[in-house]
Amino acid sequence: MSKKRIVTGDRPTGKLHIGHYFGSLVNRVKMQDEYDQYILVADVQALTDNFNNPEKVRNNVKELVIDYLSCGIDPEKTCIYIQSMIPETAELTVFYSNLVTISRLQRNPTVKTEIAQKKELFGESVTYGFLGYPVSQAGDITVLGGEIVPAGEDQEPLIEQCREIVRKFNSIYGEVFKEPEIYLSQNKRIKGLDGNEKMGKSLGNAIYISDSEEEITKKIMSAVTDPNRIKKDDKGNPDICMVSYYHKLFSSEQECKTVCEECKAGKRGCVQCKKELAANTIEFLRPMREKREYLEAHPEIIEKVLREGTAKAKKEAEETMKKVKKAMKLDYFCD
Ligand code: SF4
Repeated sequence: MSKKRIVTGDRPTGKLHIGHYFGSLVNRVKMQDEYDQYILVADVQALTDNFNNPEKVRNNVKELVIDYLSCGIDPEKTCIYIQSMIPETAELTVFYSNLVTISRLQRNPTVKTEIAQKKELFGESVTYGFLGYPVSQAGDITVLGGEIVPAGEDQEPLIEQCREIVRKFNSIYGEVFKEPEIYLSQNKRIKGLDGNEKMGKSLGNAIYISDSEEEITKKIMSAVTDPNRIKKDDKGNPDICMVSYYHKLFSSEQECKTVCEECKAGKRGCVQCKKELAANTIEFLRPMREKREYLEAHPEIIEKVLREGTAKAKKEAEETMKKVKKAMKLDYFCD
């Protein structure tokens, strides 16, 4: 039986952190054995709110792919490709744009939230490109025949919009596309070192996969702990401490148990607790960091992965567009 196809991706706007690792990369590494996985480096989408900073997008393409390979994405099993090098997606997006109303896009809860977050960039007047990105995302997914799209709950409205577009297209032009299904990520969002619900570059509360040992230690030493604990023998509450929270990600079950028991009993110093966490985090990330250093020294590997992945994805997209144009009566010349 052929494997179901997954289409997923990331915007190349910065290096990946442990929130990305536990939130999506671990899943992708697992899923590449069971599914036919395609990961797009979404440079076109990144430009919707970075149109005035193309250098940033360009420079992060390579960084993103280095992070992927360092975390265990295997290009033999997963096709990694550059979104802007599949012009068929843009073509399909134009066709899809006739099937979506502006008010429907404005009502999309994910788009609404994101526009509110980008107020500084857009002011009162959002661009056509940003408002329309769910349409181009539908193009990304369907041009490659995506059947499954892994996403968090906050992204669900985008996939629903894609399904609506597919239904409308099929009802007008005939059955060309399958409706993609969402694969809801079971992995919870990882909190920041400062206790913020979200880990992010702009918040300055992230541990990056590429961070050096010194950087990891420095960041963990500044993590938020139980504020009521002043002296070592004060009884603490590990449930409100980010160090305890991260121990659950990077330390053994036994170590986590000891941390909790000793903290509650006032038998553990926060500095020592942080030092132990830093050591475990460094060890956990060591293989990724070492692979990263190797790949940074061998840019030809990244170029080969992207060249081959993009060629493979483009071939798929070309086949899809032949079907689309036939269905839309736009196949004017026979080959
Ligand atoms: Fe947090 Fe550890 Fe300090 Fe308890 S001892 S408050 S778990 S850092």
